[in-house]
Amino acid sequence: MLVAFPAWGDTTEIISAEFLYNSEARPVGMSRFQVVIADFITDAMAPEREILGDVATIVSLGASREDELIGHVEQADALMIYHNITISERIITRLQKCKLLIRCGVGYDNVDCVAARARGIPVANVPDYGTEEVADSAIGLMLALTRGIAFLNRRLQRQAGEWNYMQAVPLRRLRGRVFGIIGLGRIGTAAALRAKALGMDVAFYDPYVRDGYDKALGVRRVEKFEELLQQVFVLSLHCPLTDETRHIVDARALALMPSGSYLVNTSRGATVDTAAIPEAIRRGPLAGAGLDVLPGEPPPPDHPLVVAWRDPNDPCHDRVILNPHAAFYSEEGLLDIRVKAARTVRRALFGEPIRNVVN
Ligand code: NAD
Repeated sequence: MLVAFPAWGDTTEIISAEFLYNSEARPVGMSRFQVVIADFITDAMAPEREILGDVATIVSLGASREDELIGHVEQADALMIYHNITISERIITRLQKCKLLIRCGVGYDNVDCVAARARGIPVANVPDYGTEEVADSAIGLMLALTRGIAFLNRRLQRQAGEWNYMQAVPLRRLRGRVFGIIGLGRIGTAAALRAKALGMDVAFYDPYVRDGYDKALGVRRVEKFEELLQQVFVLSLHCPLTDETRHIVDARALALMPSGSYLVNTSRGATVDTAAIPEAIRRGPLAGAGLDVLPGEPPPPDHPLVVAWRDPNDPCHDRVILNPHAAFYSEEGLLDIRVKAARTVRRALFGEPIRNVVN
């Protein structure tokens, strides 16, 4: 197979891809590529070195703000981005020869994909590293809430109430109750299969899912978002953060949910208006909420939900579970992201077709 490598400058070289992948050596005169990891990775980068080390210099910046990237990314041939940083047009316009922005994860709302496209830079993600972990976490949050596990543990631990189940009354049997999904994509589907295994009646709202997928999966499509809200026992978000889904669950939406229902969010924090949750728990209809994600991570200490969750005198203390955007994480999943992202970078460096381009 012959491929062209415009990245090598004026002399366009044609070389066998097989040679490049199988050989330690690089053609004479080939400059090393530069790959920059913007954030999150602070270790010795063993997976990235294994896949890219023979052709690229890899730099990890461990940044959390765009300012920290200035002066370090301009000459990057590829920029690897996790979820601790936002990449706006301001940074994208500085990139002189970048062949790929890779979001090492699923959601790419922290990258200005439009600005990248305008500059001819593809943005790709790694869609399949943690599907099962996130679905497991959503179901885990649901079980911890609906079985009273977190509530009872929290109360016993601080010696509130009697040492018996009565504190958690009333809990409801899950079988037959509606597990409502917003966004029946990879993770939503994996969560649907798990909820079905628990005997739940799985319904979803997703205007972009093709007709018939619901039949194949054995779940119910609900055409109107409000209809889904009115019937859920548990509402679980699995949509991306877009202009359409920002605050898709707000005070108005929460008010439509049945009394004693639960909210689970493992998608993106800003899909829910989290400031509306404390009142929905204090006055109903929510019996509890489990959130892996918040609009700002870490949240400001004065965020109304965080304040209520920290206050032992507020019902949110026992009825809200917060996690630090951990649903994606397992050792296996983390290695998957790094390996898959690095392989995609390698393809981009060598001008090969790139998988999972999102812009
Ligand atoms: P996916 O693209 O496979 O599925 C997203 C689904 O949402 C699609 O079916 C899409 O049609 C649907 N959707 C889009 N707009 C919608 C709308 N307005 N209303 C209803 N549905 C809508 O993505 P995925 O792999 O299932 O991941 C889903 C989201 O989970 C990601 O976008 C990411 O933000 C989040 N995520 C979180 C973690 C974590 O650690 N908490 C990890 C991975 C992914």
